[in-house]
Order: sequence, then C-alpha cells, then structure tokens
Amino acid sequence: MDELQYQFELLNAMNQKLSVDEKMFQMLCNTSSSAFLYYSFEDDIIKTFGNWKFFFNVNIHEVRDISGIYDFIEDKYIQQFRELIFIEKKGRKSENVVVRTKDGIWVECEAAVAYDESDKPKEKVIRFKNVTKFKSQNEELTYMAYYDVLTGLYNRNYFIRLLGDYIRKAEEERAVVAVMFIDIDDFRKINDGLGIVIGDDIVQQLGHFLSTFKSDHIIVSHFNSDIYCIAIYDPCGARSVEHIYRMIHERLQKPFILSNMTEVNITVSIGVAEYPEAAKATLELVKCAEIVMFKAKTMGKDSIQYFDAPILNDFLQSIAIENKLKDAALNRNFMMFFQPQYHIKDRKLRGLEALIRWRDEDGRMISPSVFIPIAEKNGTIVPIGTWVIEESIRIYSEWKKKYQSDLILSLNISAIQYRRSDFVSKLLQILKKYEVNPSEVELEITESVLIDDFGEITNKLITLRGYGIRISLDDFGTGYSSLSYLKGLPIDTLKIDKSFIDTVLSDNNTKIITESIIYMVKKLGFETVAEGVETKEQFEYLKSIECDNIQGFFLGKPMSSSEVEELLKQIAV
Ligand code: C2E
Ligand code: CA
Ligand code: CA
Repeated sequence: MDELQYQFELLNAMNQKLSVDEKMFQMLCNTSSSAFLYYSFEDDIIKTFGNWKFFFNVNIHEVRDISGIYDFIEDKYIQQFRELIFIEKKGRKSENVVVRTKDGIWVECEAAVAYDESDKPKEKVIRFKNVTKFKSQNEELTYMAYYDVLTGLYNRNYFIRLLGDYIRKAEEERAVVAVMFIDIDDFRKINDGLGIVIGDDIVQQLGHFLSTFKSDHIIVSHFNSDIYCIAIYDPCGARSVEHIYRMIHERLQKPFILSNMTEVNITVSIGVAEYPEAAKATLELVKCAEIVMFKAKTMGKDSIQYFDAPILNDFLQSIAIENKLKDAALNRNFMMFFQPQYHIKDRKLRGLEALIRWRDEDGRMISPSVFIPIAEKNGTIVPIGTWVIEESIRIYSEWKKKYQSDLILSLNISAIQYRRSDFVSKLLQILKKYEVNPSEVELEITESVLIDDFGEITNKLITLRGYGIRISLDDFGTGYSSLSYLKGLPIDTLKIDKSFIDTVLSDNNTKIITESIIYMVKKLGFETVAEGVETKEQFEYLKSIECDNIQGFFLGKPMSSSEVEELLKQIAV
C-alpha cells in the first residue's frame, strides 16, 4: 500500500469512527427525556439536542436565537435563568438552577463550561431536565414537614418554630404571648367505643373549627391525636383567650355531625400559659400550658385553667414523687399503720383498717392520698399492693396468735390490683400461709372499681364472698353513689365518707341524706361504718340514728403496729 492510500484509509476509518460516535451521541440525546444546548466558543456554533421541543418550542440556529427561549420561562425565574445561560462570563465552571416554564414544567438547568489552557472558555453544554414529579414529591415532603395531614393545621414542630418567632418579637415589643393547650375529654372512649374513623372525623371537624381563629396574631396547630395548641400574640379583645374559649365552648354546645350521620357531643379541657409570666422559653411555655391542662382534667374536665406557680410546684412535686416511688417500690420503704374501727353500741373494737405509710429517704412522711394515685398511674401499685396485703396479714396473724383476738382486718384494694386475674388466688394463698380465716379479712373497694366493668367485677366479688371474704364499699357518697344500684351489689359493709360526717350536724340536707342512707343500707342487710368521726357530738348523733360502727380520730387515729399491740394487750386483760 502506498503512503497516500494508507493515509486515505486511515482518514476514512477515523471519519467512520467519528460518525459512529456522533450517531451514538445523537441517539443517546434523542432517547433522553432531557434537552441539551451546546455552544462552541471557538467556532461560534450553537446546537440543540435531545428532547428540545418538549421544553422550548423554538429552533436555535445561531446565538441570537437564544433570546427566544426566555419567553417560555416564568417571569420570576428569568433572571437566574439568563445568568445560567451566560455562565462563562462569571468565570464559573458549572451551575445548577431550577426554574418553571409557563406551562408549569419544573426544569432543572445544569451548565458546564470547558476552558482551554489559557483559561478561555472553549465550549459549553447546558442540560435541561424535567423535575416536575420530583418537585411535587418534594413539595409534599415540605408540606408534611410543616402541616398535619389529618387536619391541615400546622404540626407541632412548625408551631414551635412560629411560637419562637412570636416570643422573640414579644421580647422586643414587650408584648404577651398566650398559649392555649386544648385536649378533647375522654377521647380514648370515643376512639375505643366508636372506632378510629369516627375519632379522626371528630379531630378533623374540631380542627376545622379551630382554624377559623387563624390570623396574623393567632397560630393554630394540631399536635397529635386529640391535642391542639393555639398561640396568640398580644391577646386582647376579639383575640383574647377568654373570647376564644367562649367561642369554642359555644361551638361544643352543639354536636358534631359525623359522616355516618350520627351525632357526637364532646367537651375539651384547656390549659393556658403566658409568656413571659409562666415561662420565657418556647418549649417550657408549651409544657406549662400542658401541665395546666392536666389540672383542668383533674378539676372535672370541660373547663379552662390558667397557669399559676402552685400548679407547677404540685406537678414538679408529683414528678419527684413518681421517681422516688419507683425506688421505694423496689426497696419496700413502706410500713403499715392500722386505724381501729369500733362498734358504736358498746365501743368494742370491731377491727383495724390497714393504711400504708411511706417515709422517703429524706425522712419526710408522704401521704398515701398523694402517692397512691401516682402509683396507680405508673403501675407501681401492683407490687406495693401485694406487699400491703402480705405485710398486713402477716402482722395480723401474729396478733391473733399472741392475743387470740378475733377482729376484722380491712385492706384497701385499688382497681388495678383488683382487675388482675391472679388477684383472688394470690390472696387466698397468703391467707393460707399465715393461717388467717378469710372471714377475718374485709376488702375495701371504691366505686371506681365497679365503674370499670360492672359485670366482671361483681362476679369477682361473688367469688371472693364465696370464700368467706368480706367486701366493703369505701368512700360512699363521693362517687356516683346512687342508692338504687346498691341493691344488687354483693357487699357486706358500706363506709359513709368523712365529707358527710363533717357537715352532718350543721347541714340539714346532709343530715337527711345520711339518715336515709343508713336506713336503706340496714334494710339491704349491710353493715355501716361512719368514717372520720372526730367529735363526741358526731359520735352521739351517729349512735342515735343507729349507725353500726365508727372509725375516726375521736376514738383512734391510725397507729403503728406496736401501738396496736398496746391496745390489744389492754383488751386481752
Ligand atoms: P381511706 O381508705 O378513706 O382511709 C381513711 C383515711 O382517712 C386515712 O387517711 C385516715 O388516716 C383518715 N382518717 C380517718 N379518720 C379520720 C378523722 O377522724 N379525721 C381525719 N381528718 N382523717 C381521718 P390516710 O391513711 O392518709 O389514707 C388516705 C387514703 O389513701 C385512704 O383513704 C386510701 O384511699 C388510700 N390508702 C391508704 N392506704 C392504702 C393502701 O394500703 N392501699 C391502697 N390502695 N390505698 C390506700
Ligand atoms: Ca379505706
Ligand atoms: Ca374511706
């Protein structure tokens, strides 16, 4: 092959290679959903590739045609778009912007510039990519980051951020910011009883109603489940807490009509805390409003409660107690006291009520009326209650052996203990272990035990009584106390609450009620015990209306086991 022939074939092969590459490049560009704009500075050539017409329905042959594509872009993005097109002038090698076309297509534009050795731009490629789908997913994510999907209100995180803004502004302007923490009463009952769909429906409808308060000065949010929070900047007049509360209260007088056309009435409990009085930091302020809301719940729900220092102290104390209680339950830092009960007729000892005492590690006595409700809430009542039963029965059995006393030992039993399936068998086991007769034990239960599951509980009462264990209804008169429901109850004794005894001599209505309780209860065949008898006058009066037994400071305070021994010794002689 001569030299020329060789050169020609080489050239031809190279040309072929070039056209294959070019074809491949063309194919790639054309099958891509993106579009490309290519510009060569050296040759002043401009070319478009790929899905160009999808983005810009205009032909580009020379540089000045470029201005035609600006017409496709929304005005607010024009500036950044132009800057990208002229990227090389700013000496940057690449850049990326997202703009929207007038057809609503989100376009990601990515530019890359190649430079020669002397840093002069050689060529430039801009890729246009359709990111509409990605953008809307992104918007959805952004939405979810700020809003609650169920109600469309701001979510907790975003509320906290906006509240932070309010507080910073209030700091400068010396203004007040109020936070209303709103919780639907008994929402669990609605959810459990009527189903989650109905629960959601109510949450949505209340959310919709609360959203009507939204304004420049009011942020409304849905935290989760049945909890909403409202922040008010500079509350006054139509945007005062009182006004908003009145509007909410008015709305809740009417039922919510659900999608299945049933009607549901709800009430809410609201806690209010204000910056700067309650707290200066955002999260703390919301926490204060929440604590106060809990207070409103314990005050009987359907109400509004305003922050004040004692509420916070009570709360902090209960947290401290809760933490200590867990240790005490493990270490058994408790002891049993016993309060005597006397037959009213002859003042003879009827029995003893076991009352728990807790001395914490600082040596302070903490009242059971403070720590028992906490123990019931955090579940420690179960080990504590088991300890109470065993310890009291153990002590009682010693007295029995020593003094041949034949008494009734009364034990307070919480609803949670009572509900446990092994409650009866464990109790019987302990009685057997200490050789105490079931008929010497009386379990004091409150009406709240019965409310939970009347049918199941009464069956349990019947079983217990079948073994000879006595049942006493404690604190009668403080709960639901309808005399008519006493009729079918398998109980032996009824304890009339101290609140009746306190006013029985001064208040005629109490007198009439107390007398009819005793009359009725006698007819039903139950024994009566009057609690909290503190004076001779009360004692004499109760005797005159034929109450059977009394318990109270007048005849005996709760005492330690050694003090009870002294008492038993005296009786024995
Ligand atoms: P409770 O069962 O109604 O017990 C009677 C309470 O009234 C006792 O308070 C007793 O000291 C007090 N008391 C009795 N007579 C008088 C009186 O004449 N005047 C005054 N002012 N008070 C009187 P305590 O011991 O502080 O117990 C409070 C509550 O704590 C009990 O009320 C009971 O509900 C609960 N509790 C106590 N021990 C136990 C326990 O071992 N288990 C459970 N589950 N609850 C317990
Ligand atoms: Ca009791
Ligand atoms: Ca009681």
